[in-house]
Amino acid sequence: MTVWLKDRTADELHEALAPLGVTRRTARRLQAAAVRRDLLPSHLPEVSDQVLARVRDAVRLPRLVLRDKRVSARDGFTKYLFEGEGQGLFEAVRIPLLHRAGKGRYVVCVSSQVGCPLGCAFCATGRMGFTRNLAAWEMVDQVVRIQADSRHPVRGVVFMGMGEPLLNYEAVVRAARILSEPCGGAVAAKAISISTAGIVPGIRRFTADRLPFRLVVSLLAAVSARRQMLMPVETAHPLPELMAAVRDHHAATGRRVVLAWTMISGFNTREADAVELAGLLAGLPVTLDLIDVNDATGRFRPPSAEELRAFRDALRKHLGEPVARRYSGGADIHAACGMLATTGAAAEQGGS
Ligand code: SF4
Repeated sequence: MTVWLKDRTADELHEALAPLGVTRRTARRLQAAAVRRDLLPSHLPEVSDQVLARVRDAVRLPRLVLRDKRVSARDGFTKYLFEGEGQGLFEAVRIPLLHRAGKGRYVVCVSSQVGCPLGCAFCATGRMGFTRNLAAWEMVDQVVRIQADSRHPVRGVVFMGMGEPLLNYEAVVRAARILSEPCGGAVAAKAISISTAGIVPGIRRFTADRLPFRLVVSLLAAVSARRQMLMPVETAHPLPELMAAVRDHHAATGRRVVLAWTMISGFNTREADAVELAGLLAGLPVTLDLIDVNDATGRFRPPSAEELRAFRDALRKHLGEPVARRYSGGADIHAACGMLATTGAAAEQGGS
């Protein structure tokens, strides 16, 4: 059986290759070569030529094909269109963080599925429907390919691209482990975020597995009937169940949960929304990330500057928890949150 590199953690690689004489140390070196340098070594210190030849016969180093790349003239966000080894194309976005102490670094927003079955009304990915889950290596290689194309290091990964990560739980968690292990992508586990629109069994599994990654839950509304209007997932996993899972996650991990609030003018930026949210979150330490909706169809609009100011004032008054405004860039190349929606050809367009 062929062992796919970039698709297993170093321990899993060791387990698969141990019968060929591969030690744990050698497995780590193979992992570093595949994930950091995108190669299968022809020589490794302390490894005999015979063992390495057996390894080379037994493994495969898969690579995504880059079909398109677009750079935002506005903010430097860069969108990559990839083809993997299954049906459909998918996108990843490189987010520049170039201001800290003059040192450049990037965060990569990774897709976990081709399309998405959840169909959030404000999201272009949701409108494409669902094609398939991505394999772990197809997520790892989005970061590998983008790192190879970048002047600065990738220091963070967010699973917020196309798809609902917790509906592809095993592959997503494996990819996050590979990207965070020191002999793999070496991205700090706390700099890896896994986002969900509210898949309760996935959140409970995430909590039970004691994963070191950050969980981000997309709320949109604090009242079930309003959330259901734009997020069909609310029917299967209603807010009371979702919030119970989020509260249990906080109780088990002690971590402040990050809640994403995609702001839609006239829908969820009123003072009443802040009051309802404060009621829903009472006693739960959270960070609220405010993100502008990005809807290329024009049906949903972000709040005006005045609306935003009033909403932030209302949150300050009623919520009393940290609120952060998250810039979602690359709108001019359809790379912003909710805009990832390639449909098959190497054309552009491009959520959780
Ligand atoms: Fe899927 Fe996220 Fe888009 Fe909702 S917002 S349809 S969960 S990709």
